[in-house]
Amino acid sequence: MEPTKLKYFEDPYLFTSKSKVIEETRYQDKLALILDETIFYPQGGGSPYDQGIIRLDSTEFKVNEVRFENGIVYHIGEYSSGALEPGDIVELELDSDRRMLNCKLQTGGHLVDEAVREVGLTSLIPAKGFHFPEGPSVEYDGEIPADQVERLRSEIESAANKMIETGFEIKTFIVNSREELEKYCYSIPTHIPEGKQIRVVVVWGEKGIPCGANHVKNLRDLGQIKIMRIKSGKGVTKISYLIER
Ligand SMILES: [Zn+2]
Repeated sequence: MEPTKLKYFEDPYLFTSKSKVIEETRYQDKLALILDETIFYPQGGGSPYDQGIIRLDSTEFKVNEVRFENGIVYHIGEYSSGALEPGDIVELELDSDRRMLNCKLQTGGHLVDEAVREVGLTSLIPAKGFHFPEGPSVEYDGEIPADQVERLRSEIESAANKMIETGFEIKTFIVNSREELEKYCYSIPTHIPEGKQIRVVVVWGEKGIPCGANHVKNLRDLGQIKIMRIKSGKGVTKISYLIER
């Protein structure tokens, strides 16, 4: 089967589109639709999946969960009415509020990273990010001295909000070699496969990080960010943030 074409890479603010039904199948015992292309984001990269509706006239399939496996996007859910068949041309509609929130939370994680560098914390090595609405955070290998935590929390918050105010058109592009990856990325995670196309996302300045998730188009779209807490100890620093809605 051909891999599903991922339309969200082209435009993260595309909330409706048309697509063709390839097959109705099961994903881990749950009813799922496979389409030729999709705007639905499958869970990954620290961001949750999209939800929404797939419809054709009065037939409606409610998408509760979206997963990605071996190049195929599984739209998992249930029919509210009717049924679909292979070859049907359907309309896709995302829960746009959910998508926008996830774009903001995902970008917020990148932005915290930029602000951490901006305030001079270059010894912290990015380890992982959690960009769900429930307590988003970024984690680093490395520690901050306890007596500096509060000062740095406030500095990181100011630096991040200054970047939002200034604004930045977020750049996403594909790199094809390790040399390019080194040129455009701050650090290269160990799980990056060799010889594969990698998508790089830059939210500020010239360099970014490899990421396949959805982001806002301009930093200004974030509104405001709050650094809630910095927890540092046992070789790990966790920075929790919040996007003001
Ligand atoms: Zn990202």
